[in-house]
Amino acid sequence: MHDFRHRLSHFVLGRPATMRFLALLLAATVCFSSATPLAAQALPGARAQYVLLVSIDGARPDGLRAAGVGPILQEGSYSMTAQTTVPSGTAPTHMSMVSGVGSEKHGVRDNSWEPGRPYPAAPTIFSVGKRAGLRTALFTQKPYVRVIADPQYMDRVELVPWRPATLTSDLIAAASAYIRSARPHVMLAHISDPDAAGHAEGWMSFGYLQSLRRALSGVGSLRQSLRDAGIEAQTLVIVTADHGGIDKDHVAVVPEVLTIPWIILGSGVKKGHAIEQPVRIYDTAATILHALGMTVPADWDGKAVIEAFAARPLAPVAYRR
Ligand SMILES: [Zn+2]
Repeated sequence: MHDFRHRLSHFVLGRPATMRFLALLLAATVCFSSATPLAAQALPGARAQYVLLVSIDGARPDGLRAAGVGPILQEGSYSMTAQTTVPSGTAPTHMSMVSGVGSEKHGVRDNSWEPGRPYPAAPTIFSVGKRAGLRTALFTQKPYVRVIADPQYMDRVELVPWRPATLTSDLIAAASAYIRSARPHVMLAHISDPDAAGHAEGWMSFGYLQSLRRALSGVGSLRQSLRDAGIEAQTLVIVTADHGGIDKDHVAVVPEVLTIPWIILGSGVKKGHAIEQPVRIYDTAATILHALGMTVPADWDGKAVIEAFAARPLAPVAYRR
């Protein structure tokens, strides 16, 4: 390459103006195409190059423990007393999860969004990631959850039909296939089955706990797809929930509804560490930007959960494109 540029400059200097211009154009093209894209290098201080965020809709921490989450906790750091926001509807809480601010700032207060309505202006992990050249994706089974993913910042938004016959498996299969083929840098996989079971049979019912077991199995499949894609070692995984629930709903302002699991594992994260600092749902977005080596906006309510990370940042390694 260096030799080529040298010969090119030599060639340019001895030619008429038009040819000189064309040669410079060619040189510029060569230089730009050989330049490393913005997202192709880990940012200084980055703990991870990819983030997989898994939201298990309506997962209570005690429910997840009963469903066998224990071994996953030992693989990373966790808070089983994290707190969601009020109002504790699915769209407002997911918006807080990805935008780093509470409902009063991002403006999503209920699940009434429909296609054609405007998207909130608040920055999200998707918009910040996309502006930095990262690939972004949302896989969900609830139509209105797409309020959190303005298409102009998304490489992929997939609404996977929910079918009683297949429950969570369609969502997991679609998300896993996408991870293997596209290797997204910032992806949210939203598993809605436990919330449906909670509304139908009650939170902590047998059916609800079974749905959480399916969700945990789905988390295992998603992690396998990271392995298949060759990016598991560079990926940060966060498993959390939008809200809990009590009886057959999640509108009451009580600990059973507001307390959520917050489990973080993978690239750069301490193993088997019980997080002591209070964790709020909007800390999720801040932690993700922090892990990717990006600056967390100063006006965000959320702060990165620094305590979860090992002392030494990830050694800079080129992104896999
Ligand atoms: Zn929900």
